Amino acid sequence: MEEVSRPERCVVAVDGPSGSGKSTVSRRLATLLDGIYLDTGAMYRAITWAVLESGVDLSDPDAIIKIAQETDLSIGTNPAAPHFEANGVDIDAAIRGPEVTAAVSAVAAVPQVRAQLVQFQQDIIAGAPRIVVEGRDIASVVAPDADLKVYLTASAAARAQRRSAEDATEVQATEADLARRDKLDSSRAADPLRQASDAVELDTTGMGIDEVVAELVKLLNSKVSK
Ligand code: C5P
Repeated sequence: MEEVSRPERCVVAVDGPSGSGKSTVSRRLATLLDGIYLDTGAMYRAITWAVLESGVDLSDPDAIIKIAQETDLSIGTNPAAPHFEANGVDIDAAIRGPEVTAAVSAVAAVPQVRAQLVQFQQDIIAGAPRIVVEGRDIASVVAPDADLKVYLTASAAARAQRRSAEDATEVQATEADLARRDKLDSSRAADPLRQASDAVELDTTGMGIDEVVAELVKLLNSKVSK
């Protein structure tokens, strides 16, 4: 693998659908850059956790907005061990659970929740020397001036297989769940999942993690000066 350049400041935006390998490669790249890592999906999951805890109706956007405003989020950015808290509670395991996963796309579709989290994300990015940010709308909305924008994809089968290996769920059910979330995330009115026109698309089907990371390093080196 090429040695990565470490400019004084750089922002890498990694977007793509669920299970495309964003988290693993983003964390690896952030570590190589000696930078920080921002998992924006975890932020939407954290608000969703708080909404579910509060018991408010998922079809009541005003109630969701109020919970989002009242939730005190602590978002870890250490690529080796990102840790998340909401209102002082450790939510690392809960935000990956089936209840949050089932509800997150509905919460993430509320424009005011997005506006609040996008502002939070932009503040973190502004204060970071080198950062890798992963999500759905990073290149298009959160960090349109990112030094490198990549859009990771993979076949539905490959994505389901990876996710199932991570959380020991059944592949077929996982594939159906990923398809459901992709549809919701791509069709919502506010900041839908889409590839930014200036993002480099990388289909990771059949590629190993090392290969994907090496490709990103090559792309980044070509964008930033040593
Ligand atoms: O990446 P992850 O699967 O953890 O994201 C969970 C959900 O959060 C996505 O399905 C999507 O609804 C939402 N999300 C989003 N915008 C982002 C990141 C995640 O809407 N930037």
